[in-house]
Amino acid sequence: MALLTPNVTYEMNGVTVNEKIIPDGTRWKDGSKAKAAGFSAGSLYKKQQKISKVKYVTIHNTDDLDNVNDDAEQYTRATYNENMNSSRVHLYIDDLGAWQNLRAGTGLCKADPVNSAEVGWHAGDDSSTTGGNMTSLGLEIIMNDNSTHDAKAKDNGAKIAAWLLNKHGLTIDKLVTHTYWVNKSAGKSFSDVDKQCTNLISGKKWCPSYIFASTNAATALKNWKAFKALVEKYLNALSGATVPSPAPTPTPTTTPTTTPAKLYRVQTGAYSVKKNADNQLAKVKAAGFEAFVTQVNGLYKVQVGAYSVRSNAEAMLAKLKAAGFSGFITTVNK
Ligand SMILES: [Zn+2]
Repeated sequence: MALLTPNVTYEMNGVTVNEKIIPDGTRWKDGSKAKAAGFSAGSLYKKQQKISKVKYVTIHNTDDLDNVNDDAEQYTRATYNENMNSSRVHLYIDDLGAWQNLRAGTGLCKADPVNSAEVGWHAGDDSSTTGGNMTSLGLEIIMNDNSTHDAKAKDNGAKIAAWLLNKHGLTIDKLVTHTYWVNKSAGKSFSDVDKQCTNLISGKKWCPSYIFASTNAATALKNWKAFKALVEKYLNALSGATVPSPAPTPTPTTTPTTTPAKLYRVQTGAYSVKKNADNQLAKVKAAGFEAFVTQVNGLYKVQVGAYSVRSNAEAMLAKLKAAGFSGFITTVNK
């Protein structure tokens, strides 16, 4: 079976994402597979419903596949081939990066505008209006490979979770586990969110099991808190970046003939793969900005403008943000 081709590849918080969003209007074809998943041939293949407000990010684990390099691609392919039952997640994440199956409202690619996040099917609570399917983004982190790959997959998952929390204006306590929703469905409501995230109910789904690493309550809690701390670190770095910068230093007026030593540029992406930078360049240009790619230390940086006065760069950054791009101001020596 040929590998899937992503519609576009972009980066989210430094993680490569292959966009392969299930098109609206896709319907079940194979009657027996549909029936096994609780549907029938001709039923919609995904919920195809907007999440009115994303309130949580839900973490899952699924198994690494033997002799498969790009596991997230293979899970996405299995989804496209009607082999994942009713499961629909927003992103499958492995050590290489991620494959996006549903809109998450990222605004990072054409098929996924901001405020477009859609309902997945991953929390086991059907269409409960306050449940995980209807209110959260589902991230499936593929683990149980070797420890190096697992650590990388977990790190990629943490970076993506942090970025999505930040994008949707959510704090770290809105990062939850599949087991959180299992407890909710069972009528349990612990005042401690971490307890709700890690409380094992015998015979029910225990997920993310590889992050928990043990069914021992104290160990699972410790491991979940460690993962959460990693996400929080990335979240703090992101929210720190959006804190308004200090007032610009006034431009010296005493030496108007002196050439400024620095130029301010607005950067809206840095990529190790040139193709990804070119994709971002095309998007920024399509939005009407004069942008260019510059290669620095092996990274392809997408930048806009060159200003000797910082406030001009800030004005440009504000325009870019208003157009849905993220960015920051960088300086270069003239
Ligand atoms: Zn799960």
